[in-house]
Amino acid sequence: MEVLLLGTGAADGWPSPFCRCLSCDDARTRGEVRLPTAALLGDHVLIDAGPAVPGAVARAGRSLREVHHIVVTHAHPDHLDPALLLWLSWNPTPHTVHVWGPSSVAEACRHWIGPATPVEFHDIGPGDKITLDTPDGLWRAHVHAAAHDAEPFGGSPDALAADAVVLEIVDAHGARLLYLTDTGPLPQATLASLRDASADIVLIEETFGDHIDHRTGHLDLATLPSTLGALRAAHAIAPGANVIAVHLSHHNPPVEVLRARLADIGVRLVDDGTVIGRPTRTLILGGARSGKSAEAERRALRFTDVVYVATAAPRPGDAEWAERIAHHQARRPTGWATVEGHARLTQALRAATARQAIVIDCLTLWLTGVLDEAAEHGDWDAVDRALLAAAAESAAKDLVDAIAHCPATVLIVSNELGMGIVPMSASSRLFVDLIGRLHQQVSAVCDETILMVAGRPLLMDGGRA
Ligand SMILES: [Zn+2]
Ligand SMILES: [Zn+2]
Repeated sequence: MEVLLLGTGAADGWPSPFCRCLSCDDARTRGEVRLPTAALLGDHVLIDAGPAVPGAVARAGRSLREVHHIVVTHAHPDHLDPALLLWLSWNPTPHTVHVWGPSSVAEACRHWIGPATPVEFHDIGPGDKITLDTPDGLWRAHVHAAAHDAEPFGGSPDALAADAVVLEIVDAHGARLLYLTDTGPLPQATLASLRDASADIVLIEETFGDHIDHRTGHLDLATLPSTLGALRAAHAIAPGANVIAVHLSHHNPPVEVLRARLADIGVRLVDDGTVIGRPTRTLILGGARSGKSAEAERRALRFTDVVYVATAAPRPGDAEWAERIAHHQARRPTGWATVEGHARLTQALRAATARQAIVIDCLTLWLTGVLDEAAEHGDWDAVDRALLAAAAESAAKDLVDAIAHCPATVLIVSNELGMGIVPMSASSRLFVDLIGRLHQQVSAVCDETILMVAGRPLLMDGGRA
C-alpha cells in the first residue's frame, strides 16, 4: 500500500503559529513544517480532509482527481474542512466521491454541497466493516472506537469528537494499515477487535510529548509506549511493520530529541510529504563475481516472506554447474521459497503479494532460457536471428509488464555484458544486444538501478525514482 503522508502534525501544526517555544523555534530554524495529519492511500483513498490537504497534495505533485473515497475520522477542524467539497463542485469528478465518517461529518458538510456536487455520504461507527470500491479493486475498512474528547476546542460541541473513530484499512493486495489518531489509550473494545490485525503500516498519534497531564484524548510519551505494547501483544502490528508517529505538536521535545526517543520504542519520525509502503523495484547489474546476488539477498533479508526465482535451466551431467548452484543455495535462508526455471518467472511475479520480496537471479539466464526455447534444440546459430529477436522481445514485453505491476518488492539481478569486447559469433552479438535492450526496459520500471563493482553498489542515476 502506497501511503503519502500529507501531514504529520497536530491541529495547529508544528511549529504552532503563535508560539515561540524551543520546539517551535527549532522546527522553524530547520524549516521542518508539519501540517495537520492526513494521508493519501494510492490514488483513490484519502484519510482525513483538513484545511492543509489541498496544498499538501499540490506540493507533492499529485491531485485528488482520482480519489473515490474520503474517510474522515471525526469532524474536528484539523481533520475536516468542508470547503474541500466546494472545490470539488468547481471541478466535479466523473465518478461519485464517497465520504465516510461519523454522522457529525455529513452534518458539518451540509452547507457546502450543491445538487451538482458528485458526493455521497455514509455514516460509520465502531464495529462497521465497509468496502471501498476502487479502480484498483476492493479495499476493506474496519471502523473502531477512538478515545477522543473535545477539550482542546473548548469542550463544545462535545458531540463532535465523542464519535471519533480509528481505522484499519486493507487494500486490494492485502496490505494492512492502522490509522490511529486522534485518540488516547485505546478502549478495551478497540484493542479486542484489533486482535490479529497484523498491520504492515501503523500511523499512530504522539501529540503531547512529555506533557502528560493534558487530560485530553491524545497520546504522549508515557501513553504511546503502553498503547503500542498493548497493540503488539494483541498481534495488531506485524513484526517488522513500519510504525510512524503522526499528529505531532510542539508539546513534543525538539525534533532530533523526539526522533531518538521514538526510535527506542520502534517508532519512526518522517517528514510531511514522505511516501511509505510503495513496493520498490531494484535492478542490480554487475560482472561475474561482482557481488550482485549477495546484494540482492542482503536487501531481501528484512522480509519474512521471500520468493527466490532461480532462472537457470538445469544442466544434467555438469558437475561444475551443480556446484555453483549448491553454493548459491547454501547461502540463502532456509525459509525462502524457491521457484526454478525461466518459464515460471512472470507467473511468480503475477502471483506475488504486497508482503513478499521476490529475488530474480538472473535476467541473463532468463533470456538464455527464452532463446533456447525459441531455438528448440538450443542451437541459436541454426535459427533465423530475426525469429530469435522477436521471441525475446515478446517475452521481454510480458516480463516488464509483470515487474511494473507486481505488488511485491522486486530485486532483479543481471549480468552487465556490454562492457567487454564485441563477441566474435553472430549469436553472441545478438545476445549482448538483446540483454542490453532488456536492461534498459527493466530499468525504466525500476525505482533504482545499481551497478556492483568489487562487492560495492554504485547507485546509478535514472529509473523511475
Ligand atoms: Zn486532530
Ligand atoms: Zn480531534
